[in-house]
Amino acid sequence: MDATLSDLLDRVTALGADRPAVSLDDRTVTFGELDARANRVAHALAAAGLRPGDRLAVLLRNTPEYVEVLFGAARAGVVLVALNWRLAAPEIAAVLGDARPALVLTGRGEAHLLPAGTDPLLLEDGYEEWLAGHPATPPDVPVEPDDVVLQLYSSGTTGLPKGVLITHANLAYTPRMGREFYGMGPDTVNLVPSPLFHVGGIGYGLTALGQGGHTVLLSALTPEHLLAELERWRVTHAFAVPAVVAALLTAPGIAEADLSALDRIAYGGAPMTEALLRRAIDVLGCGFMAVYGMTETSGTVVTLTPDEHDPGGPRAHLLRSVGRPLPWLEVALTDPVTGAPVADGEVGEIRVRSGQNTPGYWNRPQETAAALDDGWLRTGDAAWRDADGYLHLHDRIKDMIITGGENVYPAEVENALAAHPSVGDVAVIGVPSPRWGETVAAVVVPAEGAVVDAEALLADVRTRLARYKCPTSVTIVDSLPRNASGKVLKRELRAAHRV
Ligand code: ATP
Ligand code: MG
Repeated sequence: MDATLSDLLDRVTALGADRPAVSLDDRTVTFGELDARANRVAHALAAAGLRPGDRLAVLLRNTPEYVEVLFGAARAGVVLVALNWRLAAPEIAAVLGDARPALVLTGRGEAHLLPAGTDPLLLEDGYEEWLAGHPATPPDVPVEPDDVVLQLYSSGTTGLPKGVLITHANLAYTPRMGREFYGMGPDTVNLVPSPLFHVGGIGYGLTALGQGGHTVLLSALTPEHLLAELERWRVTHAFAVPAVVAALLTAPGIAEADLSALDRIAYGGAPMTEALLRRAIDVLGCGFMAVYGMTETSGTVVTLTPDEHDPGGPRAHLLRSVGRPLPWLEVALTDPVTGAPVADGEVGEIRVRSGQNTPGYWNRPQETAAALDDGWLRTGDAAWRDADGYLHLHDRIKDMIITGGENVYPAEVENALAAHPSVGDVAVIGVPSPRWGETVAAVVVPAEGAVVDAEALLADVRTRLARYKCPTSVTIVDSLPRNASGKVLKRELRAAHRV
């Protein structure tokens, strides 16, 4: 395996310097250009006074420069701190205060989010001059596989985003994942719709880039543009959060589109309902692959491969599973309180032991100690394992609803509601109840053109779920609050329902 990101880029550039590495709209950067420009970035960082271990914050849309800056930082021993441009200015200020970067690179459209007095380097105005004059030859900086190269902030679904440290060695697993599980190689054309500031963008991007494949970035996440780029580049692989899969299905002309090159779409990062998955399989006709992972594991740790997706066959129940652990790591299910292993069929917290695990959170020794227990990462996610070793996610432990002493995992209820044709989007939360402690509440977005009849919907769900799991209220809304990963912000929904 390649030891550092620099080794990785050397190897794939050797496959042909003129081969396309990264495209955005009509612009394509070759591997030779990426390699040379990464070297210039590394020299420019050193000339700007950044030493190994210093931090470069990047607040940019998905662009080829993002990728060259990652490899440049890697070669300079500098840590790239990826900032989320969907955050509000005070949130960005908090992250910058946490990361304390020596330099901030941003774009014209994002600069206004930075606190006053930041003095950033602007991509459109200053970046090229900053690179100019620096050699395209590799810098002489010793970099070790266990050095931190990336600081990614978690999505902030359950609380404040945490700075997750990621090493070169952690990232070396992503191309391996690409080769052994996605079937990627130098001919792969990989669409990366997710923002590069999340692991589902940057980590997933390396799966194909690390094989010498061609990575396609998007300038807009509209259904029309997604479909147009899938067709134009003859994309073979893509990763999409469920909200993006749902958006793609609404693209005009999707039923007639030429997606003959598309080998598979990986989906994950947030719960996929079986109803949406079935619709996607039906409409798009390509392979589908479930992936489960998180920032703290540098991406995927569990996967359900395309041949395990069998919508009309005897293994159709696996559509509700995220699959089995990757062979190079260990997954255990444990009692969230005692830490003791739970039996098959019982719900426990997912723990992961692997070379992909983060060495810890930046500046948060307590959270690090709580999350990393004797080499095992506590994920905060609940799941059960069936007799064949498939994991069935049961939501976040923090989102679990306890009603009248019974544990209810929202995902199960959401799946039951989503199967109803009038439901377009749905979230289930626990709301305080004087009688039950908490009670199950559904927040529903009607399907396009449909009207939700709450009574009829609840009657339908009661035929499929135990009574204590059935919602006691249905609130109809226009849309659900989601973060950049497409995850529903349940803490916001809960706050809205506390009154
Ligand atoms: P924070 O840790 O800041 O609260 P977050 O956990 O949402 O935010 P990420 O690291 O981006 O931040 O997301 C990882 C989480 O996403 C997992 O712990 C899990 O809860 C959820 N997730 C990942 N893959 C899947 C999947 N295939 N199905 C359902 N949920 C998933
Ligand atoms: Mg998390």
